[in-house]
Amino acid sequence: MGETIFSKIIRGELPCHKVYEDELVLAFLDINPLSRGHLLVIPKEEVATVDALSDDSAAAVGRVLPRLSRAVMKATGASAYNILQNNGAAAHQAVFHVHFHIIPKYEDAGLGLEWNPLRLESGEELASSIAELLSDKEPETLARW
Ligand code: AMP
Repeated sequence: MGETIFSKIIRGELPCHKVYEDELVLAFLDINPLSRGHLLVIPKEEVATVDALSDDSAAAVGRVLPRLSRAVMKATGASAYNILQNNGAAAHQAVFHVHFHIIPKYEDAGLGLEWNPLRLESGEELASSIAELLSDKEPETLARW
């Protein structure tokens, strides 16, 4: 994966409003927030999408998300929030370095969602094909693609 603007932020070559950093993770305020307190949480590992992320980086991000969410809620007074994570341009990803948005929801600001649910079709078949890929039987089928 090529460099993104987040690589420069990680290396300190571009400024950010940093709120948290450890060996594997950085969190900073989004430069164009959807609401006050909108935070980005990124692994330092340079990959574009979650499916390419190492287990260690994924665990490191997951470990701090609850704490960062609590801090954002406390600092802003918001009582609801969304965690958004986009993978791929078709899914509205603009910066191709994995990032999790923590977006406080206020009455007049936050993440707007259009949610158009479908009826579940062939659930049993689909669940078992995913489960099969996750089973220990054929781990190589889930090698990075
Ligand atoms: P996404 O559409 O999920 O890829 O979101 C990318 C996010 O990165 C957007 O919310 C941008 O506002 C944010 N962003 C882009 N450049 C910067 C920057 N230099 N500092 C902070 N946030 C940024």
